Amino acid sequence: MPKPVIVAIDDDLSVLNSVERDLRSHYGQNYRIIPLNQGQVALDYLKKLQQRNETVALFLVDQRMPEMSGTEFLAEAIQVYPQSKRVLLTAYADSQAAIDSINEVGLNYYLMKPWHPPEDRLYPILDELLEDWKAHVRLPYEGIRIAGTLWSLTSHEVKDFLTRHQIPYQWLDIEKDASARKLVEDLTQETKLPVLFFPDGNVLIDPDLKELAEKVGLQTRAGLPFYDVVVIGSGPAGLAAAVYAGSEGLKCLVIEKAAPGGQAGSSPKIENYLGFPTGISGDDLARRAVSQARRFGVEILSAQEVKQIFVKDAYRIVKMADDTEISCHAVLIATGASFHTLKMPGAEALTGAGIYYGAAYTEAINYKDQKVFVVGGANSAAQGALYLSRFACEVTVLIRGHQLTASKYLVDALNENEKIKMLLNTDLIEVKGANTLEQITVKNTKSGELQTFDASALFVFIGVQPQSKIVSDLVMCSNKGYIFTGPDLMLDKKPPPGWTLERDPFLLETSVSGIFAAGDVRYGTNHRVASAVGEGAIAYALIKEYLKTL
Ligand SMILES: Cc1cc2nc3c(=O)[nH]c(=O)nc-3n(C[C@H](O)[C@H](O)[C@H](O)COP(=O)(O)OP(=O)(O)OC[C@H]3O[C@@H](n4cnc5c(N)ncnc54)[C@H](O)[C@@H]3O)c2cc1C
Repeated sequence: MPKPVIVAIDDDLSVLNSVERDLRSHYGQNYRIIPLNQGQVALDYLKKLQQRNETVALFLVDQRMPEMSGTEFLAEAIQVYPQSKRVLLTAYADSQAAIDSINEVGLNYYLMKPWHPPEDRLYPILDELLEDWKAHVRLPYEGIRIAGTLWSLTSHEVKDFLTRHQIPYQWLDIEKDASARKLVEDLTQETKLPVLFFPDGNVLIDPDLKELAEKVGLQTRAGLPFYDVVVIGSGPAGLAAAVYAGSEGLKCLVIEKAAPGGQAGSSPKIENYLGFPTGISGDDLARRAVSQARRFGVEILSAQEVKQIFVKDAYRIVKMADDTEISCHAVLIATGASFHTLKMPGAEALTGAGIYYGAAYTEAINYKDQKVFVVGGANSAAQGALYLSRFACEVTVLIRGHQLTASKYLVDALNENEKIKMLLNTDLIEVKGANTLEQITVKNTKSGELQTFDASALFVFIGVQPQSKIVSDLVMCSNKGYIFTGPDLMLDKKPPPGWTLERDPFLLETSVSGIFAAGDVRYGTNHRVASAVGEGAIAYALIKEYLKTL
């Protein structure tokens, strides 16, 4: 925590020097003393202090300065630092200025020059004011602050990214907090959001995730030009494979386009994963897996998207979105699946502005005491609804079918929760809102009845699609995009066209040797955390076999 600041302002440099000397000798150990010789210079300096979230304990200001009087300065300064103590310095008695100042800026003390000896005429007064300040001040938050609106997609993405990396931040809603709005307006005239303030005074305006990842110290570039195995995706499948590869001494790189944990990372509570009888949150599981993998020397890149994989001689080349390439012996595709998005008009524009995909964990707190909706009837929707009910006053779950398809323990929990309502046989047919979601319309699929509801947020969990586009031209996939591996590639007991090796593809190997797939992106998988972890572990064992053949 930086020391609180005492700002001293006087246009007479000899007076300023002696104020500074006296303040420093008595308060320098606990306060940072900032001497400045002009009111406007001091106001500009306050903005910088505010961006760094530093706090000012006391202003000691000369009243008679040519460009701006002490009272005029304080009138502006207290807009920025309303809790700071205010003392005016004057060379001779000016009782009218003192009275004006007390009324206009809530002056705490009017101090006559000279103040010597300070032990009698300065320190006792300031000691008392600073004691009072310490007793009542609310010290500022020390970490990253994000200023934005609840309705900006980019603000949501940044919050989600930091939450998923377990990096704490303070959220400043500029629609509700006038000083946060002022802070943003001083920096950017355009409505570019969010604005991120870092404790070191740096500011990022609407950063892309890679820029943000670099700023918060995450690894975004590979340390080596060549790896034994590159894993794409850091969900449960990718991390499990990486832990085994690292523990056996392979040079392993994991590349993640967003944050570790994958879909599992967005789960508020996983209750059916072996070994956690009271459940574990997805981000906790991801954090443990990431530190386990790193302990074994695995490199994990964040905010780096892979856009293509190709084969060059005996090597597999992974190409990133920024066109950098990494070569390796073997690749594991563990890119999982992502939620289907709503296809109705207006839904895209409202994404992040009231419509969220699987983001209950990040956004729930913003919907305290409000009515929210969940779309979907499977496990992820049920978990989302339960988590949201801890904050919202009512959660309505829209289910297309005639019953929930979630696991029994989740169905029981939903039925027992008084805040949760379920609408069966219900199709979402319209979303409406100028800048933010305002209303939704649903249709009962049996009666055809339409109903419109006011809605502040809609959390969508409507089934997933495999994230296999990066290899759709390279390896064989099902018509829905799931990657075929091992026995699923065999036709009439023969390997797929183009397969040149004498052996058949390994169990989790794709139609291109040395390229493996595991988890939710793979055809025939079970869409569960444990299955993904198991497949990741098996994929590693098969990659080890593959490496022996090189
Ligand atoms: C909200 C929710 C709750 C769930 N709850 C449970 C539960 O309680 N129990 C249970 O067993 N299962 C649960 N599941 C299912 C489970 O989370 C998934 O089956 C599991 O996460 C699949 O793991 P995976 O590693 O295959 O893929 P994913 O978890 O989907 O991870 C894939 C990763 O790859 C990254 N990626 C994708 N493309 C690229 C690219 N081109 N470049 C770089 N990175 C890329 C993604 O960003 C992602 O991080 C839940 C799922 C959700 C969404």
